[in-house]
Amino acid sequence: MMELQNLIGGEMTNPKSGAWLENVEPATGQVFSRIPRSNAADVDAAVQAAHAAFPGWSSSPLEERAACLRRWGALIARHSEALIAAESQDNGKPVSLARAVDIPRAQKNLEFFAGAVEHFASEAHIPGGAEFIHYTHRKPIGVVGCISPWNLPLYLFTWKIAPALAAGNCVVAKPSEVTPLTAWMLSQWAAEAGFPAGVFNVVHGLGHEAGQALVEHQGVKAVSFTGGTQTGAHIARTTAGMFKKLSLELGGKNPAIVFADCNFDKAVATTIRSSFANQGQICLCSSRILIEDSIYETFRDALVAKAKRIVPGDPSDASTKMGALVSAPHRDKVLKYIGIAKEQGARILCGGVAAPAPNDRCTSGYFVQPTILEGLGPDSSINQEEIFGPVITLQRFSSEADGIALANDSAYGLAATIWTTDAAKAHRVASQVESGIAWINCWLVRDLRTPFGGVKSSGVGREGGVEALRFFTEPQSVCIPTR
Ligand code: NAD
Repeated sequence: MMELQNLIGGEMTNPKSGAWLENVEPATGQVFSRIPRSNAADVDAAVQAAHAAFPGWSSSPLEERAACLRRWGALIARHSEALIAAESQDNGKPVSLARAVDIPRAQKNLEFFAGAVEHFASEAHIPGGAEFIHYTHRKPIGVVGCISPWNLPLYLFTWKIAPALAAGNCVVAKPSEVTPLTAWMLSQWAAEAGFPAGVFNVVHGLGHEAGQALVEHQGVKAVSFTGGTQTGAHIARTTAGMFKKLSLELGGKNPAIVFADCNFDKAVATTIRSSFANQGQICLCSSRILIEDSIYETFRDALVAKAKRIVPGDPSDASTKMGALVSAPHRDKVLKYIGIAKEQGARILCGGVAAPAPNDRCTSGYFVQPTILEGLGPDSSINQEEIFGPVITLQRFSSEADGIALANDSAYGLAATIWTTDAAKAHRVASQVESGIAWINCWLVRDLRTPFGGVKSSGVGREGGVEALRFFTEPQSVCIPTR
């Protein structure tokens, strides 16, 4: 059985408590590795190691930090086949998705922030007469905590640690206990990439134990968190009064607003992808499909016909497009929501049940059919709560204002997609939709320089490009007279 370890002060270490957690392969339901069940003592050791490394790392030349990140990126590329297989085994996602998205993007995150920090500039303000010069000195914060979820494990892990390290901070990272494998692999190559001991540390374990200890630690000056809204609220409460910098990337209940004048085929094909990619377990997935009255039936029927052709398969099979849900509790949560939808009077247009095992290897795996529901009002819990699985609902709207109101009738505000060929309407709707991201006639197209994050219960703060580098630095205003 594979045994994962923490990386603390440059050493791969066992948990101080001697306790371990089992790690399950979602496609088979079988335990295939174990991970440290770290506690506050492990976190404290990691924070101390990071503090010891901070003076050296924070004063190292930018080029040296960038070079470490680039070498790490090259190591991801060199080990990409192993990482693709590991991500699929650990998460249940198809290898085709890990190959196309997760692993290349993890490499790109490291390379992107290596370049971004070299181009990162701060402001100077020179009033008329130039009697004084004010400039902004952006300093690394110190030791920062990076906590990531299970849905895009290495992709979101690197999205946080790369800007933190590039900006000169030392990091204690806690990957999801549900998908720890690729973060562990990456941690094994930190020294080879050139990071001095203690600059980058990984502590594995449960959220309410290792995660909580990291968030509470007085030596951790900033916390960058991606995960569920309830956990984010708990972290905000925990850190209130501790004056830490906090970045929260949380859940979503994303609308796709489909107007009658859309490019029909493109809207159907992309909505299938935006609904069911990664088994619907992407925070940016569409989950409420809002369709203009006059095309409601034709759009619905086209969507359902395509969804019925998606057959969940063994994630390790190269031809599989939909894999397994991440865990038994998560599969059960998704099926419970489908049960509630039925009780609330939803019509199940396709799916609605667990999917049969694709082969003998996967008889105990966590497969769910892509599910499309209609007939529920906007206030129904199914239309309000995040399900985070392959389940979408259809609702109709009669006017532009009605569509926007329906889209905004949510506690969340992460990502919206808008489908129309009327350019003016597209911009008008985008400006009125309450979301951190609006995709017009496309989905999941990313430029890493753009601000990324949500409004309302979807989060506080922005990641990406200079936003991330600003988060991971503390600005000091310096003023000096010129005479
Ligand atoms: P989660 O909140 O259960 O866990 C996320 C991470 O937080 C894990 O590493 C977990 O161990 C840790 N954690 C849990 N309790 C903690 C505590 N008390 N203190 C510190 N850390 C703690 O979320 P999840 O189930 O892993 O991920 C799914 C959620 O993440 C969904 O809601 C999804 O929408 C959201 N998500 C958001 C984004 C985004 O960018 N907005 C991206 C991906 C996923």
